[in-house]
Amino acid sequence: MTSRTGAAPRIDLHTHSTASDGTLTPAELVRAAAQAGLDVLAITDHDTTAGWAPAVGALPPGLRLVRGAELSCRWSGTEPAVPLHLLAYLFDPDHPELVAELARVRAAREHRGERIVALLRADGIDVSWPDILAGAGGGTVGRPHIAQALIRIGLVGSTREAFGPDWLGERYRLPKDDIDVFRAIRLVRSAGGVPVFAHPRATRRGRVVPDELIAELAAAGLAGLEADHEDHSPAERAHVRALAADLGLFVTGSSDFHGTHKTVQLGEFSTGVEAYERIVAEGVTEVASG
Ligand code: AMP
Ligand code: FE
Ligand code: FE
Ligand code: ZN
Repeated sequence: MTSRTGAAPRIDLHTHSTASDGTLTPAELVRAAAQAGLDVLAITDHDTTAGWAPAVGALPPGLRLVRGAELSCRWSGTEPAVPLHLLAYLFDPDHPELVAELARVRAAREHRGERIVALLRADGIDVSWPDILAGAGGGTVGRPHIAQALIRIGLVGSTREAFGPDWLGERYRLPKDDIDVFRAIRLVRSAGGVPVFAHPRATRRGRVVPDELIAELAAAGLAGLEADHEDHSPAERAHVRALAADLGLFVTGSSDFHGTHKTVQLGEFSTGVEAYERIVAEGVTEVASG
């Protein structure tokens, strides 16, 4: 595979739309990807496939779309459990057990969001759950939507600040009822999808899992590790690459674009064509072409 210009194709395999906590609609996202010069884009909203159809419907000529999702998971091998994110590509969106599990996690996110808002309100902070839910516009609710409410009332200046320890990063952080990561890998594989561990070494986001667990996940069906990500330091990227090589996993790189909720741009980190081709070979859903 080559790009339209004959150069190495530009592949970004992790992005969010308004179907979760991004700020571009799925249609705007695919148009922005084409404008940014990408050849392949994956849409990977948190715990939902709701953006797939509108993204395909607006796909510009020459852009290929990998349909995916980012599953909210946890590893319970330590107390408290470690939250982690699993990217899933090209799975059957109608697989009943997976559909049910995603619906359950979205409901758990709403429950957690409401409890975070109750904690804030108990401290006299005037945020409203109905307003926050409305702000999510029917997409999967996350802390970035609560961050917007804190920005609106002037308590913080940016999403980044809202994720600081005094706010949603620690003081007002609550766990949600995530999917056990081994169950998630099993479900994604049984739905014909390809599971990739998102930002596995992102220590700046909080606790990370040990390499021994990643080896167990590889044995359980994990296909790849996301190495190039803005939340990984250069040393963490190198570590993830070495671990992937040891375990026979492929590595990806991606922007984890969230529109104006983050500063990273589409295509700022990218994936090599070999990893992309392995995903295409292993996934049950076709890559959509514009
Ligand atoms: P949640 O899924 O509700 O637990 O919220 C986590 C989401 O918040 C991640 O998927 C990111 O989109 C976003 N996020 C986490 N840390 C930051 C940060 N420092 N700045 C901006 N967004 C962040
Ligand atoms: Fe997010
Ligand atoms: Fe993530
Ligand atoms: Zn993400």
